[in-house]
Amino acid sequence: MKTTFATKEIVERIAAQYPTPFYLYDEKGIRENARKLKQAFAWNKGYREYFAVKATPNPFILKILQEEGCGVDCSSLTELMMSEACGFSGSDIMFSSNVTPAEDFKLAKKLGAYINLDDITHIDFLEQVAGLPETIFCRYNPGGHFEIETHVMDNPGEAKYGFTTQQLIDGFKILMQKGVKHFGLHAFLASNTVTNAYYPKLARVLFETAVMLKKETGADIRFVNLSGGVGIPYRPEQEPNDILAIGEGVRQAFEEIMVPAGLGDVAIFTELGRFMLGPYGNLITKAVHEKHIYKEYIGVDACAANLMRPAIYGAYHHITVLGKENAPCDHKYDVTGGLCENNDKFAVDRMLPKIDMGDYLAIHDAGAHGFSMGYNYNGKLRSAEILLCEDGSFKLIRRAETPADYFATFDFTGLFPQK
Ligand SMILES: *Cc1c(COP(=O)(O)O)cnc(C)c1O
Repeated sequence: MKTTFATKEIVERIAAQYPTPFYLYDEKGIRENARKLKQAFAWNKGYREYFAVKATPNPFILKILQEEGCGVDCSSLTELMMSEACGFSGSDIMFSSNVTPAEDFKLAKKLGAYINLDDITHIDFLEQVAGLPETIFCRYNPGGHFEIETHVMDNPGEAKYGFTTQQLIDGFKILMQKGVKHFGLHAFLASNTVTNAYYPKLARVLFETAVMLKKETGADIRFVNLSGGVGIPYRPEQEPNDILAIGEGVRQAFEEIMVPAGLGDVAIFTELGRFMLGPYGNLITKAVHEKHIYKEYIGVDACAANLMRPAIYGAYHHITVLGKENAPCDHKYDVTGGLCENNDKFAVDRMLPKIDMGDYLAIHDAGAHGFSMGYNYNGKLRSAEILLCEDGSFKLIRRAETPADYFATFDFTGLFPQK
């Protein structure tokens, strides 16, 4: 059985003050998980997690992770601005972008962030718009298929990111000629992996590439960034990743490949998003309509504009009917939002306890790539975000949008006076 941190009692208490739908985050779970990750890589002296801001761009969440020693991984101007406002600067920031606008590079450079180039042409572009820093990262794309024991995990050859192997060699040489002193290597080859083998396999690829680059170019390689991609068990039957085993697998690869090549001082970075926040956020919604036609429908007050993963990826998100955790799942429902879009369904043919109007539903594993992928289709407004604090109290960490927010970009027209 898949359980979650939200309970009926907690949600009723919050809903008395902040109406559904809202996102609810579990501070205790976030902190414990961040500590375990740190422990998994404690063998590496320079290890640091740079939380992928795009997963959960909320200053209160970033502050919690900052207290746990994390930096931030940004890929846009506003993510950099949010990070700066939260007090991240210099080596606290990774800037891993692609198709990068000039102003983004300018701010990243000004903040002293570690800049991770996505392409060899970005060398000249960055030099022109902001100047080259002393330390630079390059993102690697080995092409082909990325396999773990004959199982194809993903298809880097079809991915838009990164330098080819030859471009890395040429790029490092060019960057050294232009005065860059220290280097990092980065790759992101598979997303939401639920296997302890992903990071160790990726690490082997990057470590072998680092050894090759050192030999071919003489570059001073200081960092290897394993990026994101460690996943979470969205489905009840999935076995969660064991982050301690993952850290140990990376350590073994490091001892085998890096230490003998004189690269034993290289720092390992990670840029996890989903693994850091996914399980520690729920979308809380209320059953507001039921409909009995060719199928049984439960209509809720959230919709795909609040959480789009089921609609665009067909992603599974477990649902708990709060207060009915132990009731038999003897009703088959489609759980839907109110968009004029038939793919606006949080669940299809899902066996759940009998749902009554007014029941609260917790949609699990929405803490990463959930709120942040929200949108305003059908004029739907973004929900509030609430933090369940370690002491059991709760705190509003983002207010819900109002119609005034929705109309704000027409402020020059005078059509929607802001009250
Ligand atoms: C999205 C992203 C991440 C985080 O990915 P997760 O799947 O959430 O771990 C890390 N690095 C980069 C460059 C990304 O684009």
